[in-house]
Amino acid sequence: MTAVALPSRLVLLGHPVEHSVSPLFQNAALRCAGLALVYEALDIPPAELDECLDARIAERAAGNVTIPHKERVAARCARLTPVAERVGAVNTFRTEDGALTGHNTDVAGFDHLARMALGRSPLPRRVALVGAGGAAGAVLAAVENWPECEVTLFNRNAERREHLAERFAVVSDTSDDVVEAVKGCDMVVNATPLGLRPGDAFPAPVRALKRDAVVVDLVYGRAETPWVHAARAAGHSAADGLAMLLEQGALAFEWWFGVPAPRDIMRRALEP
Ligand code: NAP
Repeated sequence: MTAVALPSRLVLLGHPVEHSVSPLFQNAALRCAGLALVYEALDIPPAELDECLDARIAERAAGNVTIPHKERVAARCARLTPVAERVGAVNTFRTEDGALTGHNTDVAGFDHLARMALGRSPLPRRVALVGAGGAAGAVLAAVENWPECEVTLFNRNAERREHLAERFAVVSDTSDDVVEAVKGCDMVVNATPLGLRPGDAFPAPVRALKRDAVVVDLVYGRAETPWVHAARAAGHSAADGLAMLLEQGALAFEWWFGVPAPRDIMRRALEP
């Protein structure tokens, strides 16, 4: 791992951010690595983002970016890593030579989660993806590297769905009907916030899934999400987004500091 200059400050930029558990596991990792920094969540409304980024550059900060700022931070970066360029969104940044460099660790974080959900099963040939926002872009940037895989994309907003499909050739089909979209697919991925709030509908009905379809939910909570719970009860292999959250955080830590992330410590910081 390459040694990099220490940032003066480590922040999470989002709106809202009070629900984020990233400070819990990043601060555990910083303590474990003996780094004299505190990871702070900053609630930045969209109107204040530009000013906030100017201040972060001036103080040579590094950090993470979450909803709704990932695309706008990408646009403000002087340099993007190839994966951030591909997704068009930045979830990890650092200050270099008085400007921002943007990276995206959601892609590798998703790849890690999907492989964990698959266990010993081979990579899927047909994936259904529900959602067409920033997280869905990260999913597609990972899946396009899986050999011979095709994606059917569902999103309720047709314009957003078709726009994302145009950017990623791995999307072979789009649909405005989620039951049709998941039909016969080996893996079904939720990249919407459905499941965050009690009473949310399932991203796709479990009864519509192929019998051995693997279910991957980017949403996470303290307990497994209702969709993952229902899918497991119906005999599917399923995983929620916690492992992705931890892996994207561990990869960000390694990119900021050039040292291995203490993954076990980070995971334990989230245990009740
Ligand atoms: P985003 O850019 O705001 O996109 C949200 C997507 O969800 C859009 O496709 C939107 O559809 C769809 N959507 C929102 N509400 C919906 C509803 N009620 N019914 C159906 N579709 C709905 O958000 P994002 O950055 O892609 O993040 C999406 C979710 O992924 C987040 O809520 C988060 O839980 C999760 N995530 C997890 C991780 C992780 O590490 N585990 C990382 C990133 C994201 P329309 O276009 O039709 O509005």
